[in-house]
Amino acid sequence: MAFANCPKRVYIFSWPKARQPARRMTMEYKNKLKQEGYTRYRGAVDASVYEYFNCDCSWKAQWYLKKGHYRCCGCKERCETRDPEGFQLFLDLG
Ligand SMILES: [Zn+2]
Repeated sequence: MAFANCPKRVYIFSWPKARQPARRMTMEYKNKLKQEGYTRYRGAVDASVYEYFNCDCSWKAQWYLKKGHYRCCGCKERCETRDPEGFQLFLDLG
C-alpha cells in the first residue's frame, strides 16, 4: 500500500492556467483609456478606416478619442491613428 497516502490534489497544480478571456482584456484596456482621458467616440466610422488598418473585425470596434488621437479597443490589434479622415465628427450643438 505504498501509494495509499499519495495526495491526489497534487494534480491541481499541473492544470493549465486559465486563459484570460479576450473580452476581459478589452475591458481592462477600455478602463485604461478612460483613465488616460479618452472618451468614447460615438460617431460613424468609414469602412476605409478598417481597410487602412487591415482590420476585419470592424463589427466589434470601439473607438476612443483624445485630442484628435483615435484608438480602437475592439480587437487585439489596438489600432490607433491621428488621421481624422474616415471619422465623421458630429457638431455638438449641446
Ligand atoms: Zn482592429
